[in-house]
Amino acid sequence: MNSKAELHVLFDRHEIETAVRRLASEISKDYRNRNPLLLGVLRGSFVFIADLIRHLDFPLEVDFIGLSSYGSGTQSSGKIKVVKELETPVRERNVLVVEDIVDTGLTTAFLFQHLQRLKPASVKLCTLTEKPSRREVPVNIDYLGFTAPDKFLVGYGLDANQKHRNLPDICYLEGEA
Ligand code: 5GP
Repeated sequence: MNSKAELHVLFDRHEIETAVRRLASEISKDYRNRNPLLLGVLRGSFVFIADLIRHLDFPLEVDFIGLSSYGSGTQSSGKIKVVKELETPVRERNVLVVEDIVDTGLTTAFLFQHLQRLKPASVKLCTLTEKPSRREVPVNIDYLGFTAPDKFLVGYGLDANQKHRNLPDICYLEGEA
């Protein structure tokens, strides 16, 4: 990203807080008494999952998996690899995947295939944002924060070349890239 790209707020911190509380309430209804494993997808979901779990007042566990498309840049190459494996045994567990954004859906599709081989009792998906106009493979989203336009999002954990993860609002970058 070049310095001429400008930041615009898309979802501000108050809207995010409201969405996180709503998602936590939906998740609580479904997962209370099931000791779910919340699986954050690194790196983009770390801020979201940290806020989300503080609104869940029942026993749960947290783990992370690191996924990356080969190569870098703002376009998903479609070839995904595991760069940090989860450490918790998931056999017979109720797993809730926590994502930052579902874009083409390729990363999520890869992750669900990867998890199914580990024989969990169930796997569902919670994502803070999705960009439906970009979908290449079908993805079933169980808990959704925001539907976003086809723009490159940063902030609240999301980066552009490792920058802007610390912004409290979800913004988009526009201008020269
Ligand atoms: P997908 O495989 O669904 O195309 O992309 C999933 C991953 O691509 C996300 O988890 C995220 O890491 C990255 N990604 C997709 N769209 C955006 C975006 O608008 N902003 C940022 N920062 N990352 C994105």
